[in-house]
Amino acid sequence: MPNKKNNPSALNEKAGVSSQETISSNAIRQIKESRKKQPSAKELIDGILKENITALSRAITLIESTNPAHLEKATEVINGCLPHANKSVRIGITGVPGVGKSTFIEAFGKHLTSLGKKVAVLAVDPSSTISHGSILGDKTRMEELVKDKNAFIRPSASGETLGGVARKTRETITLCEACGFDIILIETVGVGQSETAVHSMADFFLLLKIAGAGDELQGIKRGIMEMADAVVINKADGDNIKKAQLAKVEFNRALHLFHPKKSGWIPTVATCSALTHEGIGAVWQTILDYLELVNSNHYFEEKRKEQNLFWMMETINEQLKDNFYNHPEIQKLLTSTKKAVSTDEISPFAAAQLLLKKYFKF
Ligand code: GDP
Repeated sequence: MPNKKNNPSALNEKAGVSSQETISSNAIRQIKESRKKQPSAKELIDGILKENITALSRAITLIESTNPAHLEKATEVINGCLPHANKSVRIGITGVPGVGKSTFIEAFGKHLTSLGKKVAVLAVDPSSTISHGSILGDKTRMEELVKDKNAFIRPSASGETLGGVARKTRETITLCEACGFDIILIETVGVGQSETAVHSMADFFLLLKIAGAGDELQGIKRGIMEMADAVVINKADGDNIKKAQLAKVEFNRALHLFHPKKSGWIPTVATCSALTHEGIGAVWQTILDYLELVNSNHYFEEKRKEQNLFWMMETINEQLKDNFYNHPEIQKLLTSTKKAVSTDEISPFAAAQLLLKKYFKF
C-alpha cells in the first residue's frame, strides 16, 4: 500500500484537486504542517529567538498562509520578533534568468558563511503562482549552501499579486533577523516590477549582468540600472574575461550618466565568476564600503525609515484590496458587473463606482 502521508497526489485528492491542477509544494507543506499540532504564537517567537530553524519555517508558513484565521497569529509573531529584528544587512540581487543568480548566491553565500555570518536567502518571485517557483523553488540549484548550517534558503511565497508576495518576503526578513541571520539575500527575477519591490526592502541593490555580444546596454531597463548600487558582470572566466572587461567599461560610462544617488554612493561596476569564485570577495568588500558610507552619513537609517513607511502603506493597500475582493457580496456582484461591462451595458468607471459604493456600505 503506498504511503499516503507523503504522497502529493493523495494530498491533492484530499484537498479536492485534480491531478491536472496539482497543488503547489507550498500548499502541500501547509497541509502537512496543519496536521501537526500547531504551536502558539509565543512558542514560535521563543523558538525563533533561540535560533530554531523549525520554528522559523513554521512561522514563515503562517505568514504565507492565505487563511484569514492565521492573520492574527502571524501578526502576533511578527510583533514579537520586531524588537529583535533590524540588525542585518539586506542585499537585493537581480538579473535576468540565466545570468547566474543562483550560482552567484551560492558562491557569495558560502563566502559569507566562511566569514562566520549567518545568511538567509529569500526570493520575490510573483511568477511562482503559475510556475510553482521558478526561482529558489528547486533547492538543488544551491547544493552547497543548502547543506550549510549557517544558511537558510526559503523559496518565494506564492500569492496572487506581486504586492502580496513582496509583503510576505518583507515580513519574513523580520523573522529571519530575529532568528539571528545577519545577512539577508533577496533574489528576484530581472523582469517586471519585482525589482522595485525588492529595492524597497533592501539596503544594497546588486544587478547581475553578463557580457553580451557588444551592445551591453541594450535591453536593460533604465529603471533597474538606476536602482543598482553595484553592477556585477558575472561569468568573467575562460574566453569570456575580455568581453566582461569591455562590458565593465561600458557600464561604468552608462552609470555616470545617471543622477547622483541620495545615499552619496557612486555605483560601482565589477566583474566576477560565480563558477571560479574570482571577484566574489570583492563584491562583499564593496558592500562593506557602502555600509561605511551610509552609516556615517545616516542614510542607512533614513532609507530604512522610508522603507518602513512604504511597507505600511503597501500593507494597507494590499489588505484593503484583499478585503474587497474576498467579500462574498462583492464577489457575486463582480461577476455580473464584469459581464455588463464586457457587453457595454455600463461603463467601466460607473461599474467600479457601483462596486466601491456597495463595498463601503457594508
Ligand atoms: P539564474 O537563472 O540567473 O539563477 O542562473 P544560474 O545560476 O542557474 O546559471 C545559469 C547557467 O550559467 C548555469 O549553467 C551555470 O552553471 C552558468 N554559470 C553561472 N555562473 C557562471 C560563471 O560565473 N561562469 C560560467 N562560465 N558559467 C556560469
